[in-house]
Amino acid sequence: MSKFKGKKILVVGCGTSGVSVSKYLVKQGARVMITDTRQRTELSEPLKILGDLKVEFELGGHTERSFQGAELIVVSPGVNMQNHQLLQMAKSKGTPITSEIELAVSELEQPLIAITGTNGKSTLTTMIGEMYKNDGKKAFIGGNLGTPLIEYINEGQPGQVAVAELSSYQLELTDKMVPAVAIFTNIDQDHLDRYGTMENYIAAKKRLLKVCDRNSWVILNYDDPVLQGFAQENVGKLIWFTMKNPMKMGGDFAEKFFGAYYDAEQNAVIAKVTGREEVYPLKELKIFGDHNKQNIMAAICAARVMGVNQAAIQATITSFKGLPHRLEFVRKKDGVYFFNDSKATNIQSVQASLGAFKRSAIIMIAGGKDKNMDFAPLVPFVQGRVKLLILVGEAKEKINRALGDFTETYLVGTFEEAVLMSFQKSRNSDVILLSPGCSSQDMFRDFEERGDYFKKLVNQL
Ligand code: ADP
Repeated sequence: MSKFKGKKILVVGCGTSGVSVSKYLVKQGARVMITDTRQRTELSEPLKILGDLKVEFELGGHTERSFQGAELIVVSPGVNMQNHQLLQMAKSKGTPITSEIELAVSELEQPLIAITGTNGKSTLTTMIGEMYKNDGKKAFIGGNLGTPLIEYINEGQPGQVAVAELSSYQLELTDKMVPAVAIFTNIDQDHLDRYGTMENYIAAKKRLLKVCDRNSWVILNYDDPVLQGFAQENVGKLIWFTMKNPMKMGGDFAEKFFGAYYDAEQNAVIAKVTGREEVYPLKELKIFGDHNKQNIMAAICAARVMGVNQAAIQATITSFKGLPHRLEFVRKKDGVYFFNDSKATNIQSVQASLGAFKRSAIIMIAGGKDKNMDFAPLVPFVQGRVKLLILVGEAKEKINRALGDFTETYLVGTFEEAVLMSFQKSRNSDVILLSPGCSSQDMFRDFEERGDYFKKLVNQL
């Protein structure tokens, strides 16, 4: 009998994961109530998916009664536990509080490849999924990206592995999962509007390291100083990936190197994770930028230690076209190249994008909703590389204060103006890049809507 049968469970948040977890719990015989601060009219999509599922609703706000009466509370990643009075009250009363991810993982029978970091999670998750597919193996792909992990449990866990992207929000309530592989892409400032300090943000990410055991493969980016620090606290089997050639560093690190590195002379990834050296040429790559080489290295390590065939990995490296809204080529018009990088919602991702265009003059459109970011680390990237900066959205003044003195800068009122101006001021062979460095919710529903709108405007030029 299911441990949830007859239990009174409160699901806080009627978003994608809240809906999926409710479906699962009802199937298990639980008595589910979903509560959300949003009104019914704002929740038409999730309510449509729920259909006539037997759940109670408390919408347009929460009551103390529903929190008091719950035997278990499932919190959605969008809800901030720390400043939520009713959740804090339930916690102090001893009510168990969990998340969709934690719940899914407690039922998971297949090995888990868990992916976190500030940037590259979705790209990496998708790439690893492709590697499995090219090897003729079935893998679940989801988590923060697309389908919630609990849906995999709902479907009866077909295939061989679950590859899950995990955001810091999703990791906040995690302490029981033991991943077969944990990947940390990088750590840089993000979501400081929620975490306040970098320490808190890093602590949330570090939860994935803390749940690993001696048998977990832990894949870390050697080029990231924060993640170098993580190695000290790691109990799992450590794998590094790096853009620096360790063989040139010499010493112990070179001798005992276990992981993957980029060899610039060969333009290839050298992987040493299987007891022998494997070479993965990058000559026919469809995605660009050093950040994507890092993603490829991490993917190779994960797939290889999990037994994916070398040829399938190489085939994926060659064919992978990247995801929409991540440095996505839109079109060439009158010799000008347009790129949509709407998913660049933090500083490091903008740095990565600017770093990817080494030889071009860039007109960059940035701005949106600020996440309490410090834009100053963009100065050396903007200086000399961005010939024109066009700022739009809530954060435009703040970004202007940080970067306006370092390149020609314009502040505009609308997205349409931004696109039009970028094109009017461009010259043959320029790159026009939307790389906002901010989230989108000041003007759009999400980064996808923003990216789609940008593409629409560009295609109308
Ligand atoms: P996430 O899922 O972590 O947000 P994505 O794969 O969706 O990551 O990419 C988000 C943004 O970060 C894109 O703009 C992309 O160009 C950039 N990016 C992708 N991989 C990396 C990386 N390894 N390091 C830095 N930036 C990256």
